[in-house]
Amino acid sequence: MGKSVLIVSPDKHLGGLSSGGLGFTDTGNKEVIGGLSREFYQRLYQHYQQDSAWKWQKRDEYGNKGQGTPAIDGNARTMWIFEPHAAEQVFEDFVRENKLTVYRNEWLDRSSKGVTKKGSAIQSFRTLSGQIYEGKMFIDATYEGDLMAAAGVRYHVGREANSVYGETWNGVQPNVFQHGHYFKANVSPYKVPGDPKSGLLPEIAPDGPGEKGAGDHKIQAYCFRMCMTNNPENRVPFPKPEGYDPTRYELLGRVFDSGWRETFQKFDPIPNRKTDTNNHGPFSSDYLGKNYDYPDATYDRRRQIIRDHQLYQQGLLYFMANDKRVPDDVRQAVSQWGLAKDEFTDNGNWPHQIYVREARRMLGMFVMKEADALGKTDVPQPIGMGSYALDAHNAQRYVRPDGFVQNEGDIGVHPDKPYSISYGSILPKESECNNLLVPVCVSSSHIAYGSIRMEPVFMILGQSAATAAVLSIDNKVAPQRLPYATLKAVLLKDQQRLTL
Ligand SMILES: Cc1cc2nc3c(=O)[nH]c(=O)nc-3n(C[C@H](O)[C@H](O)[C@H](O)COP(=O)(O)OP(=O)(O)OC[C@H]3O[C@@H](n4cnc5c(N)ncnc54)[C@H](O)[C@@H]3O)c2cc1C
Repeated sequence: MGKSVLIVSPDKHLGGLSSGGLGFTDTGNKEVIGGLSREFYQRLYQHYQQDSAWKWQKRDEYGNKGQGTPAIDGNARTMWIFEPHAAEQVFEDFVRENKLTVYRNEWLDRSSKGVTKKGSAIQSFRTLSGQIYEGKMFIDATYEGDLMAAAGVRYHVGREANSVYGETWNGVQPNVFQHGHYFKANVSPYKVPGDPKSGLLPEIAPDGPGEKGAGDHKIQAYCFRMCMTNNPENRVPFPKPEGYDPTRYELLGRVFDSGWRETFQKFDPIPNRKTDTNNHGPFSSDYLGKNYDYPDATYDRRRQIIRDHQLYQQGLLYFMANDKRVPDDVRQAVSQWGLAKDEFTDNGNWPHQIYVREARRMLGMFVMKEADALGKTDVPQPIGMGSYALDAHNAQRYVRPDGFVQNEGDIGVHPDKPYSISYGSILPKESECNNLLVPVCVSSSHIAYGSIRMEPVFMILGQSAATAAVLSIDNKVAPQRLPYATLKAVLLKDQQRLTL
């Protein structure tokens, strides 16, 4: 579009979760994925058309299972399911072909001196290295929204009460079980089963869950999406992490004792005998309750939280593959697996990006709410679409009044049809900032974000944000004053889907 752009990133690796392990893409209705987002998946299709892309598996041996459509969709020439390194290469190709300038390992100075504003406009920001970046327009495309926050834009962290926006599935949701991520059997939370005096096992909160529908500051759980393989030639055994303590996983032992055997349900196959392994079940990779302070935390504290998640999750894998507490059948099956040796090679084969499912959410011009994300309304000024379920992961694990353990926060409510996302949801209020767009920490309620937060949607909103930024510069207006018809015309020309 004829403008220059600088990409300033704290990360070394481009692509966030899309190159960080989330290869089994959550898409919903693929028809609503257009523009550059679709091109990303088409490039992956091209990649997997090459014989050289199939090092550990023949193409026709790959099961071609996607979410609702084949993984390799010959008709649409898209590939929705892919390996982390393949995704990262597509992002790097975009950068190279478009001669983009990327500054990596650059961390925003989040102190009061970090962002310089004149009136409501950001003039520049500074990073901890001392580098200063100026621009006419700024896009905060981070999972955390640090630039947004440092620029003085208001935001929310945690779950709103249902009463705030007239919703049903926001706030605390005890005894709501819409996936398999809850304790189906009665499992004691106490060190000595049934004896409260013996104390709680680890990984259970002493309080909770709160009143149904009430707001709180709890955050749906994070984990790493792991890339595993059962190919002995490309497999690294699950490492025993520093400080490994098997008693942390006693609850899982009790879940196995109850007969639960769903361990492999979210070992979703991606090409080359690898997986995108996600959380599944009552006690899994989601590290419940350990991320509440992450969104606003200092960089040091965030690093510590990320490290704790890694130690928890690596310990979990080591436990399942090695500990005698785990039934033989499960242990033998898990120990067939390991980390993929040829992924995340500069990080011990461990994903470079933790799955920040939700952090800050802007309080912007338009708040996307439950009814909007369920396709029950016509939002103003659509700039993209979503279609996935309202999907929130658990936020806490607590002791029920009857003395057994339970999880709370997991929601999976499907929209009637794909829905549009309003331009106002990526715009701050003009009085707070008039040259910033926020396509990831979008203005939405917690539960609407449960659907919006899918990676293809972030790519769609990113393109729309960039388009709006360019047109605002050309028209010499704040993005909040950009005529929607001008924006819509360019988005449609660039193959974005705005309505169905
Ligand atoms: C597109 C997509 C995106 C995702 N995104 C993420 C993500 O970003 N991060 C992440 O961690 N996880 C994500 N997940 C979630 C994860 O991958 C699982 O799909 C999700 O947790 C569902 O788990 P499940 O297999 O237990 O349940 P499901 O597959 O949803 O359901 C299992 C079974 O229970 C049935 N069922 C569901 N609800 C009910 C109900 N209320 N009553 C009766 N039966 C019911 C279903 O019909 C199904 O047969 C995503 C999943 C998808 C498909």
